[in-house]
Amino acid sequence: MPSTDAADLVTLIRVLERPDWAGIALTARGGGTGTNGQSLNRGVIVDLRRHMHRLLALNTTEGWADVEPGMVLDDLNARIRPSGWFVAPETSTSTRCTIGGMVSTDASGKGSRVYGKTSDNILGLELACAQGLLDSMAPAPDWARPMLIAAEAASRAGRAAFVARTPRLNRRFTGYDLERACPEQGGFDWWRLFPGAEGTLGPISRIRVRLRRIEAEKRLIIAGFHSFREALAAAAPLLAAQPTAVEVMDETVQAIAEDAGILDGLPAAVRAAPGKRLAYLFIEINGDDPAQVAARLMDCRAILAGLPGTGGLHVAADLAEIRALWAIRSAGVGLLGRVDGPGPAGEFCRGYGGAAPDRQMRQAPPCDRFPAERHAQDAQYQGLARAPPTSACPLHAHIGIVDQPGRALVRGTDPQAAAARRPSLDCRTRG
Ligand SMILES: Cc1cc2nc3c(=O)[nH]c(=O)nc-3n(C[C@H](O)[C@H](O)[C@H](O)COP(=O)(O)OP(=O)(O)OC[C@H]3O[C@@H](n4cnc5c(N)ncnc54)[C@H](O)[C@@H]3O)c2cc1C
Repeated sequence: MPSTDAADLVTLIRVLERPDWAGIALTARGGGTGTNGQSLNRGVIVDLRRHMHRLLALNTTEGWADVEPGMVLDDLNARIRPSGWFVAPETSTSTRCTIGGMVSTDASGKGSRVYGKTSDNILGLELACAQGLLDSMAPAPDWARPMLIAAEAASRAGRAAFVARTPRLNRRFTGYDLERACPEQGGFDWWRLFPGAEGTLGPISRIRVRLRRIEAEKRLIIAGFHSFREALAAAAPLLAAQPTAVEVMDETVQAIAEDAGILDGLPAAVRAAPGKRLAYLFIEINGDDPAQVAARLMDCRAILAGLPGTGGLHVAADLAEIRALWAIRSAGVGLLGRVDGPGPAGEFCRGYGGAAPDRQMRQAPPCDRFPAERHAQDAQYQGLARAPPTSACPLHAHIGIVDQPGRALVRGTDPQAAAARRPSLDCRTRG
């Protein structure tokens, strides 16, 4: 497909509306990092990362930016950093995942504990439909009204069941957010259905993101632990020091990163002895007040000193060093997804971490693996320091079946949960 824009998306949808082609699936693709191959499909795949990746507007007075959905998060942050702003949260895949993919999976990441997940960091969006573009920040055109009325009725009908049956977790990996789309005080924020909708409601053609101010002070502590379990267990007590982010890197990732030669950048103080492995916590503290940041850093160090299994500590204050150290973690986690040869056949069920409330962090027991997981390389448990899984989170898991060559045959959210929450916007993904 040549360079495209929102109007081309409209044309494409209109063409596919013709009866002869009505059976052809249309799937939006961002960076393709979705761990279940959500952007793989039959039919037409629209490669938005390649063709729609522009920063359209930047408003540093009001703190927002309009972007095309295929813009990569790191590219966006690199563009706006000189103006003193950034966009949160930072997924481990920030070098290659797109804002459209983040919205559609309601991604979380580094900083989610403080800044929330993607749905907490967008202000509106534009949807491409056969009839034209529907912009949540402008009055709805006449052609869209019947569709929105039907969608509101379906969403309101399902809201009570959704609220009653959905665990009160901040992190809903997928599913329509009927609660926020239908606020109690009335009205219908249709665009609130899109975070986590996995492209099922149609292609998003523009997104307004909320900007956050870059805080003046930043520190990163890397703490080594003799086991993953001890590293994971440390996350909850550390919350008392109000870290901005706590991420874990386990021994497996360390081994993969070492093999790939990317561990050399780790400071000597936290390198494992030859033949040994360490698990790491990456603890970031951000703030504007140097004294407060110093106090939180001291608190962190004091908590770490009292924990079992610690093995080395390094504190970075230099921004370039902090960025380089985070890059080691995200490159290591990225390598987890590498598959040499076909994977085994079987079902998979993966839970996700993210913006868990502190309460859950304290209550949930340390756990090495998502209990329902039977197969597959599991990058996700890297996120458990953010939200240890509980038996109450099946709605927040991906399920699927993988055939012999490792191709996803069935993928998506729990179908029953999805069906229970599916509104009837006309423009859902086809096929
Ligand atoms: C190693 C690794 C680490 C990860 N770490 C994290 C993490 O820290 N936090 C986290 O939340 N996730 C994480 N993920 C999952 C993934 O990176 C995120 O979900 C990411 O936001 C997906 O973005 P993408 O651009 O790659 O989307 P894709 O994978 O291309 O697409 C994801 C879904 O969004 C839909 N979509 C994409 N663009 C649009 C659009 N414009 N309109 C409508 N639908 C659209 C697609 O159809 C698909 O259903 C990780 C994945 C891997 C492999």
